[in-house]
Amino acid sequence: ADVVIAIDGPSGVGKSTVAKRLAERLGYRYVDSGALYRAVGWAAQAAGVPFEAGALAEWMTRVSLKLTFAKRHSELWASEVWIDGQCVTSKLQGETVGAAASAVATVPAIRQVITSLLRGVHGQQEDESVAGVVMEGRDIGTDVFPDATVKFFLDASIEARSQRRFQEMQRRGQSVTLSRVMEAVAARDARDRSREVAPLVPSSDAHVIDSTNLTIDVVVERMLSKIRL
Ligand code: C5P
Repeated sequence: ADVVIAIDGPSGVGKSTVAKRLAERLGYRYVDSGALYRAVGWAAQAAGVPFEAGALAEWMTRVSLKLTFAKRHSELWASEVWIDGQCVTSKLQGETVGAAASAVATVPAIRQVITSLLRGVHGQQEDESVAGVVMEGRDIGTDVFPDATVKFFLDASIEARSQRRFQEMQRRGQSVTLSRVMEAVAARDARDRSREVAPLVPSSDAHVIDSTNLTIDVVVERMLSKIRL
C-alpha cells in the first residue's frame, strides 16, 4: 500500500465506523489495530498470565500473533486476528476485553510486536489493486506510521463517547448502566493517555476533528476533503 491514512483517538469516539466508511469510499484496506491489543489481552487472560509487565512480556515471546485479510476487493474491511493458530476475532468486543487490551498495551515488548506487525501490513497486499490502507488506533500517526500520508485525530466529549458505547452495548443485549460505561471509558482513557510508552496524544501534524456534535457522514466528508486536496 502506498497511501497510509492514520486515524487515532480515544475509545468510543467512532473511529471504527468512520475508518471503515473511509476505506470503503477510497477502496483501501481497513485495519483495526485495537483488535490486536484486544486479542493479546484476551489470550493473556485466557492463559491465566498474571497482569504484570515482566510476566506479560515473557509470555508474549512464546505467542504467535497474526492478522489476515479477506482477498476479495468487496471485503476490504474484513480481517481476522489469530493467536497460536486460533481465530479470536469473535471474542474481542466489549469493555472487559477493552480493559485487558489497555492493560497489556502498557507493556513495551507487547507494543513492539504489534507495531512491527502493523508496519508489515504495508507491504502485505496480495491484491495489487488496493492502493492504500486506513488504519485506526491510538499511536498510528505518532508511532506506527510517523510518515503516514494523512493523519487524523478524532476526539469527542467523554459524555458523547460513553453514550455511544452504552448504546452499542445495549444493542448487543448487554445489561449495563450509562454511569458504569462512563467509568470504564474514563478509566481506559486515563490509562491510555498517561502510559509511558506511546501515550495517546495527537500527532503534531494530525487534523484534529471533534465529533461531539457531528454526524458520521459529516466527519467522513471532512476527512475526504483533507485527503483529496
Ligand atoms: O480501539 P480499541 O478500543 O479496540 O483499543 C483497545 C485498547 O488497545 C485501547 O484502550 C488501547 O489501550 C490499546 N491500543 C493501543 N494502541 C493502538 C490501538 C489500541 O494502545 N494503536
